[in-house]
Amino acid sequence: MGKIDFSDTQIAFESKSDKELKFMEFLFRMMSKQKLTNLASSVGLKFIKWGIPGARYFVEKTIFSHFCGGKSLEDSIITIKDLEKYEVATVLDYGAEGSEDEEDFDRTLNQTLKSIDFAATYPSVPVLSTKVTGIARTQLLKDYQKKRGNLELEELQEFNRAYERLDKICKAASEKGVGIMIDAEESPIQDSIDFLVEKMMEKHNQTKVVVYQTFQMYRRDKLDYLKKLLKDANDKGYLLGAKLVRGAYMEKERKWAKEGGYPSPIHTTKVDTDNAYDEGIRFCIENYQKIALCNASHNLRSSELMIELIEKGGLQKDHAHLNFCQLYGMSDYITYNLAKGGFNVAKYVPYGPVKEVIPYLIRRAEENTTVTGEIGREHQMILDELKRRRKK
Ligand SMILES: Cc1cc2nc3c(=O)[nH]c(=O)nc-3n(C[C@H](O)[C@H](O)[C@H](O)COP(=O)(O)OP(=O)(O)OC[C@H]3O[C@@H](n4cnc5c(N)ncnc54)[C@H](O)[C@@H]3O)c2cc1C
Repeated sequence: MGKIDFSDTQIAFESKSDKELKFMEFLFRMMSKQKLTNLASSVGLKFIKWGIPGARYFVEKTIFSHFCGGKSLEDSIITIKDLEKYEVATVLDYGAEGSEDEEDFDRTLNQTLKSIDFAATYPSVPVLSTKVTGIARTQLLKDYQKKRGNLELEELQEFNRAYERLDKICKAASEKGVGIMIDAEESPIQDSIDFLVEKMMEKHNQTKVVVYQTFQMYRRDKLDYLKKLLKDANDKGYLLGAKLVRGAYMEKERKWAKEGGYPSPIHTTKVDTDNAYDEGIRFCIENYQKIALCNASHNLRSSELMIELIEKGGLQKDHAHLNFCQLYGMSDYITYNLAKGGFNVAKYVPYGPVKEVIPYLIRRAEENTTVTGEIGREHQMILDELKRRRKK
């Protein structure tokens, strides 16, 4: 079997014109300046929320266009088709999160149902992603978790409405042959999300995987939870959908734990998180007949590990249960090389009005300032590709 050469910048950036690549280089250079990004995310993105003239235009032309598919479903078709040309699938994500009222929740529900109808007509959009905070109040999820479900009648009814919304989404997805990945969020609400997702998997994953739970492997308890859920799935006769991520809220989690005087739920070191993540990948591949895995990461070593396990086990590399996924605008060198190598790989493509996707953009901008090997590596690869093209 031919080994994938992830340093092949020609394949990695084949889909980008010179102009697009130069723009990417500029953006990565800007984002690598911690102070600038902090300023942009703390002030610039707030300017949009406040309607300051020019701010929206600036964000739309820079980080929005880089990290998002478009302002609407229709807008995103160009991005979806571009990815499709290179055998890269799309996981569509309507960017709403952290809404507060029922009207917003119903709007998100309707938008998600519209995306499901759309995905059903597009084979390169096999899965959608959604956030429970797009259809339920954060404080309600917190209370449900804190009081272990013992809510006042009115709150219970509100929780049931959230359940019904999620159920409508999963049911529509099941009927239309589309998958639903449910994002993991912050620990004070994650038990409530887990409760809802488990119910959905039990109901809709009886014969095929429709619903995917997200496991944040930076949490100390999530490797055991993954193992426990497979046991539950086997006992109750459903299939497990498992999207593995490292986790996006580490700083906040640590801060809350310190302020609240409780032990941080996050592993102490990056190495511990990496070990748990890779152990999770091994576990899912060992049980791939019962678990549909999505390795949602930009970490090259975790992608290489999965390739190695697939090859060693003699598994069909494009088996429907063996999937890789990266965020749109990040780690193209992993995505496009995996696609070229014949593996199932998708980009997570958020879309929605600029104002709605601000929390997502803040996370991406902050993530890209973290001077880890992976981000620096991508910037360097863009520079290498520009150099290669100049020499031609
Ligand atoms: C397709 C896709 C979907 C995603 N969906 C979600 C989601 O639903 N929920 C969610 O929370 N995140 C989600 N993420 C984001 C993800 O959790 C990570 O923040 C991001 O992908 C960076 O991790 P990495 O595996 O790509 O690689 P790396 O860059 O190797 O890892 C960085 C991550 O390691 C962990 N880490 C860093 N330093 C330390 C430390 N000192 N101690 C312990 N751990 C540390 C943190 O989780 C950090 O984000 C998603 C990512 C992708 C690609």
